[in-house]
Amino acid sequence: MPKANPRHPKFPIPGGPELRAKGWRQEALLRLLENVLSVGEDPDNLVVYAALGKAARNWAAHRGIVKALIEMEEDQTLLIQSGKPIGLVKTHAKAPLVIMANCNIVGQWAKAEVFYELQRKGLICWGGLTAGAWQYIGSQGVIQGTYEIFMRIAERRFGGDLHGRFVLTAGLGGMGGAQPLAGRMAGAAILCIDIDPERARKRQQIGYLQEIAPDLDSALAMIDAAVREKRALSVGLVGNAAEIYPEIARRGILPDVVTDQTSAHDLVYGYVPKGMSVDQVKGLRDDGQGQLMAASRASIVEHVTAMLEFQKRGAEVFDNGNLIRTQAREGGVANAFDIPIFTEAYLRPLFARAIGPFRWMALSGEESDIARIDDLLLEMFPDNKIITNWIRLAREHIPFEGLPARIAWLGHGERTALARRVNELVANGEINGPVAFSRDHLDAGAMAHPNIMTERMKDGSDAIADWPLLDAMMLCSSMADLVVVHSGGGGYAGYMTSCGVTVVADGSEAADERLDHALTNDTALGVMRYADAGYDEALDEVAKKDVPYIRLG
Ligand code: NAD
Repeated sequence: MPKANPRHPKFPIPGGPELRAKGWRQEALLRLLENVLSVGEDPDNLVVYAALGKAARNWAAHRGIVKALIEMEEDQTLLIQSGKPIGLVKTHAKAPLVIMANCNIVGQWAKAEVFYELQRKGLICWGGLTAGAWQYIGSQGVIQGTYEIFMRIAERRFGGDLHGRFVLTAGLGGMGGAQPLAGRMAGAAILCIDIDPERARKRQQIGYLQEIAPDLDSALAMIDAAVREKRALSVGLVGNAAEIYPEIARRGILPDVVTDQTSAHDLVYGYVPKGMSVDQVKGLRDDGQGQLMAASRASIVEHVTAMLEFQKRGAEVFDNGNLIRTQAREGGVANAFDIPIFTEAYLRPLFARAIGPFRWMALSGEESDIARIDDLLLEMFPDNKIITNWIRLAREHIPFEGLPARIAWLGHGERTALARRVNELVANGEINGPVAFSRDHLDAGAMAHPNIMTERMKDGSDAIADWPLLDAMMLCSSMADLVVVHSGGGGYAGYMTSCGVTVVADGSEAADERLDHALTNDTALGVMRYADAGYDEALDEVAKKDVPYIRLG
């Protein structure tokens, strides 16, 4: 039985033992599509997160996808082009059930303005990273990444944790909403600015944000008290970051850590310029696009100038993957890239070993399935400190949204071992229903994004998009259930290409084979990508884990 969804009553949370489709693999993908809407930011408009990341092109396309998933046989493959189903072809039972190409615009045309025009004509939609691939699991999807960033900073600069430290950030949307909880888990007093009161309330309702301050003075007083008492605390404040960051700097207050996760990548559908309300912005999207883009960019210039000022005074400042430095540089901030990107600054040694944001969803809808897999992780990886620490914290702090899910940064071999063991538990009934395994697109072999994931690669291969394309073709030949190639839409047009994958553990022998091939090859390619770029960690992984990398010369 589906469960009621108090946040979005029209979009119940899927679950239960009854199948509507002709098999669990098809049913699983249908439930994942339902799930991304049940936890999405604006499901009435099919928007899941990141301003414009959509689950399907439009409602007619959505209905077509649902019908196809319900009616299709296991030896068919559903083709999806930018969120619209375009055909159901005969393949074979080991082929993917769904393959997608979303928002891939030819190079010279891949610009935000061209995307908006194609979108207006109904010809394209942006799938975000995980929205269009039906893999989004709410704010939990990035929380471990955000937590690991905070912990790397804590280890390098603050003696191991962030107790007694002030973190300033903005953006309480689908992904940015993970920041207050990740900050609190790292021990910080974290202040999160968002222009939209509704978003702040939402994060508080679902347990990711503790307090909402009525004004800046009260917010700073709450943070100051928590810092003095070395007490972890998350505080939200409704306001515009382009006004509040400079005001905090003007008052001579210096946060210890500063970042931002507004949707700065999109000057029309994401960022809200200074002096405008969310409704005013909505009113300008169709007819005042040029005006809106100019106003957003001007505000981002002020926003990033304040971030650079905090950096100059000694704060740890980083870009958290929203293209804010790129927008500021285009607006004339020549030194915007003095701010480092989080991937290169903190997480690259993990990615070089293909350790990244792996996740799974309990399709039964039962939280106890996730608890059982948590126990399994602790049994299987007792010496992996990242995992044992994370599972302990996640169990204590992370509320479930939608289908119960868990994220854990596992690497090559580990993902496969866990998934195959879970498949056994599904088969012997220790888990109530099948489990879908997936990962963020921001993963070792899966993404080319020269201003985010692949910035300043050791060999200069930042902009080469062959890797995610190879990954997708390889995953189709490795029996994954769903494979997708996404490129950037809205403000990300022309900036990135990524690959997504989902494999369903339904307890069958066929699933065991699919999990083994797809998950092993996916991380193997991740290791090869970094080995080929000359990273020692990847070369070490090749040697230790027998990764089939062909090293020339
Ligand atoms: P979202 O659109 O759901 O939320 C963005 C939030 O920013 C909204 O709540 C909006 O009200 C707020 N906002 C916009 N302009 C503002 C301003 N001037 N001042 C204060 N608040 C403002 O987006 P999301 O899913 O939370 O993603 C945010 C950004 O992070 C996107 O650019 C996304 O691409 C990026 N992202 C990064 C990672 C990563 O791995 N680091 C992962 C996912 C998303």
